[in-house]
Formats: sequence, C-alpha cells, structure tokens
Amino acid sequence: DVTEDVVRRKIVEEQKQNLEAIIESMQDSLFTMDDDYNIEALNSVARCSILEFESSKLADRFLRYDYYDFDGNKLTFDDHPAHRILKGEKLSCFRYCVQKPHGTCYLSLSGSPVYREDGTIAKALICIRDITEQVKKDKLLRHQEDMKTSLKVQDEIFANASHELKTPLSVIYSANQMMDMYLNKGSLTEHADKLSAYNNIIKQNCYRLTRLINNITDLTKCRSGYLDIFISNENIVEIIKNTTQMVSEHLKPKGIRINFDTDVEEKTIACDAYKIERTMLNLISNAIKFSENKSDIAVSIHDKGKDVEIKVSDNGIGIDSKHMDYIFERYYQADKSISRNAEGSGIGLPLIKEFVELHGGNIVVESEVGKGSTFTVELPVKIAENEVESLHASSMNIIDMIDIEFSDIYNLN
Ligand code: ADP
Repeated sequence: DVTEDVVRRKIVEEQKQNLEAIIESMQDSLFTMDDDYNIEALNSVARCSILEFESSKLADRFLRYDYYDFDGNKLTFDDHPAHRILKGEKLSCFRYCVQKPHGTCYLSLSGSPVYREDGTIAKALICIRDITEQVKKDKLLRHQEDMKTSLKVQDEIFANASHELKTPLSVIYSANQMMDMYLNKGSLTEHADKLSAYNNIIKQNCYRLTRLINNITDLTKCRSGYLDIFISNENIVEIIKNTTQMVSEHLKPKGIRINFDTDVEEKTIACDAYKIERTMLNLISNAIKFSENKSDIAVSIHDKGKDVEIKVSDNGIGIDSKHMDYIFERYYQADKSISRNAEGSGIGLPLIKEFVELHGGNIVVESEVGKGSTFTVELPVKIAENEVESLHASSMNIIDMIDIEFSDIYNLN
C-alpha cells in the first residue's frame, strides 16, 4: 500500500508549485550567482534584467555601467554588494544606484551566501528591489520640504527685519521732525544743543540700520554659501589686542575698560582679519550689553599649539542653561527684558558662529545666571599658501566698525 507516499508526494508537489508561483510573481528580482559570477535567474523579473544586459556575468554588467552608493561614492568591483556576498557577507537592504543611459536606477539589495557541506561558499542568493520610483518621490518630497523651509526662513527674515528696521527709522523720523520744527520757527540757533543731540540720535540710528543690514546680508549670504572669505597670514594676537585696545580707548569716557591678557605675543595664522574683528566686536558689545559692572570684561588669548583660544568674559547677567543651546540660532534672544537698555536682533551670534566656522574653528559659551558668561573662540593654526587681500581693510576703519557694532547699546550714547 503506497497511498500515504503518494499523498505526501502530492502535498510536496503542491507546495513546490505554490512556492514557484510566489517567486515568479514577485516584483523583486531573485537570482543566484555562482562563485564564477554567473547569474542564474530564478524569477521573471530577474530574467528580464538578464535579457536587458545580454549577459549573465556580473563583471560584464559592471564594465558597462557605473555603480555608486547613496553618498555618491563610485563602487569598485570589490565594493559591489553581490561580490561582497560571495566573499561571505550577509547584506540587508544595501542601497546603491546604477547610472544607465536613460537615467539613474536606484536599487536595494539583500542576500546571503549559500554554503557547501565543506563550509566553502557555493553561491550567493540575491534579491534586488528597484526603488527608483520611491527614491524619486522621497527626493521630490525633500525638495518640497526644503523649499517650504527656505520660504519660512525668508518670511522670518522679512518679518524680523521689517520690525528691526522700523524702530531706528521712526527714531530718525521723529528727530528729523523736531529739527524741521525749529527750522520752520526760525529758532535753529536758540536750540543748538538740541539740534546737536538730534543729530547724534540720527547718526546712532543710521549706525544701527547699517549694522542690521550688514548682519542680515552677511548671514543670508553665509547660509546660502555665498559669503566671501579673504584669507591672509596674520598675527592673530595683534588683531585681537588692537581691537580690544581700540574699544577700550573709544569707550573709556563711558567708564568702560577691558582687561587684556595673552600668553603669546605673536602667532601667525591664516584668517580673515575683518571677520575676526567683527567677531570680537560682537562678543565685546554683548559683554557690555549684558553687564551691570562694565569694568569686569576681559579678553584673553591662549596658545594651545594646534589652536589659538580667544576668550571674552563678563560678570554680567549670565545665560540660563535652557537658552544656551539656542543663542547661536537666528533671532534667538535669551532674555527679552534686557531690551530696556539695548536693542538686539539675535543675529549677532549666529553670524559670528558662521565666521568662526568659515575659518575651520568653533565657538562655545559657558555661563551661569547672575555670575557671567565666557565665550570661547578656537581658531586652528594654519598657514595659507594663497593669500587673498581683503576688500574691507582699506574701506572701513575700526572706529567706524566700533560705532556700528555698539550702536544698539543706548546708555553708551
Ligand atoms: P543680540 O545681542 O543682537 O540680541 P546676539 O545674537 O548677539 O543678538 O545674542 C543673542 C542673545 O544671546 C542675546 O539677546 C542675549 O540674550 C544672549 N547673550 C549674548 N551674549 C551674552 C552675554 N555676554 N551675557 C548674557 N547674555 C548674552
């Protein structure tokens, strides 16, 4: 009686047919590849792909087209995922792309080696999914997201800029109206003192507008990668020392003194002197803006060999730890109430962070509420082979820069 045997064989045959139907109807290409890189198609998608290539040898395909990983690195034959599986690796959803004449094909490959009884690799079992449509859809979505973000950033820039521009403009307008009034009344000479005060107000607010416009333009250029950097080999100690001394001298009548200390007299590094000066002015002006006792501001330089470390510290109001991660972000102001004695736009720190990073350096802050803050800039010690002369060196002197950079601190003027 062989009934049981026949029934079992029928079941096995049915299972085999089911399995074949599943494999055949798969949308992915399923094939094996022997240790001589010959491909044996297991389903219709794999057969189509072999027909397209007119060869079932992996190496022939490889010679014909260029293969890349998703980071854009060209794959060598050794990097090819199928080759790696034959060398014993198990891969899951390895994504790569093939440059074909009609466009780029994006693929996701999974597979594992098939071993002989003696433990050597007989073949690779490979499944490849064409993810071109999905990748294109994702790219489109990402592009749309980027567009949305950049439109949002633009809206944010316009909203903030128009607010920030309006304040100094309306101050200039009021001062101008007062001057007009005296002019119309023919009492200009009687009010000479007031006229001079109004004139100063107009000048200070012109500086504020200049600072704001410069900062917005530079930050926007930085973020879109168009800000020029003029690198030359400079004595960084001299730049920092001169800037600090000039601020100290210029603000001495206002009771502000800045301590300067350095452990090195000369250190030549490749830098953009103008951007370093602006960085220092911004840090010092913040130190003044956010301190009651304006004489405890210190600037120091420390030569660390590979880097030069520049610190600007104050014993001012400090920054709450919850704000610390954000102050280098655009338009962030840790404490709005400070605006009583100063106006701020919250773009100074993001901009100087960009400046420092353009040099390959970094900027960090340590702070404690009520105790003060220390900003540390680290610049790498490098020497430039091709120096580029700065466009700014001759066009703007440091006093103008100080007036502009310190223009939003009311009680200085
Ligand atoms: P702005 O000073 O124009 O508002 P910044 O980008 O220079 O813009 O500074 C962002 C915020 O970081 C400031 O509004 C302030 O809240 C905080 N901040 C910066 N420097 C200091 C400092 N030395 N002490 C305390 N808070 C500071």
